[in-house]
Amino acid sequence: MAADKTVSLQESRTLKAADRPGQPGQPGSDERPSREEACAAVRTLIRWAGDDPDREGLRSTPDRVVRSYEDLFSGYQEDPIVLLQKTFEEVENYDEMVLLRDIRFESHCEHHILPIIGQAHIGYLPDRRVVGVSKLARLVDLYARRMQIQEKMTAQIANTIDEVLKPKGVAVVIEGTHQCMTTRGVHKPGASMVTSRMLGGFRRDARTRREFLSMIGEGGSRIVQV
Ligand SMILES: [Zn+2]
Repeated sequence: MAADKTVSLQESRTLKAADRPGQPGQPGSDERPSREEACAAVRTLIRWAGDDPDREGLRSTPDRVVRSYEDLFSGYQEDPIVLLQKTFEEVENYDEMVLLRDIRFESHCEHHILPIIGQAHIGYLPDRRVVGVSKLARLVDLYARRMQIQEKMTAQIANTIDEVLKPKGVAVVIEGTHQCMTTRGVHKPGASMVTSRMLGGFRRDARTRREFLSMIGEGGSRIVQV
C-alpha cells in the first residue's frame, strides 16, 4: 500500500535559486534569444572557424545545431523539485538503503561546451518517503542536460534529493570522462574524474558510506568530495 504524497513547494524553497535556472524570475527565463539569432550565431562560428556557411554541406547546419541544443540543454526547461515531488509514503517501515547505480549520462562542460560522458550512482536512506526509481535517473538527466561542471552536478543531485525527500542520508558518486581533456588540451584519453557528495548518515557513518561504495564497486580512494 503506497499513498501519493506531494511535497509542497514551500518546503523546498531553500534550494538555491541558482540551481533552478529557467524558473520564472530566475536567470535564463527572460530575454531568451530567438531561434534566428541562435542560427546567426552558429553561422558566425562557422565563418570564424574558416568555412563558408553558405556552401551546400553547411547550409542547414546552423538549424541542426540549434535543434540539437534544444535537446542537449533541455534541462533548463524542467524544474527538479516538480520532478521529485510525487513521493510514496507507507513503505512498510523500509529504512534500508535504496541504491540506483550505473545511471549513464551525457552532459557538457560549462568551460568548453564539450561532452562529459559518465555514470552516476545514487543512494539514499529513506525516512518514510521514497520516490519512483526512474525519477532518480530523470533527475540525473535533468541536471546533465545543462552546461555543467561535474562537482556542481554531483552536489545539485544530492541536494535536490535531500531537500525534497528529506531522507536520513544521501550519497551521490559520479564518474565522468571529459572530452575537453581527452580530445583536446592535455589529450589524456582514459582519464576519468570521480566526484561524490555524502549527506546525513552517509557523511556521519563510515560504515554506511563503505557499504554504499562497495555496492557501487568503488573503493572510494579516487573520490573527490564536493
Ligand atoms: Zn571543459
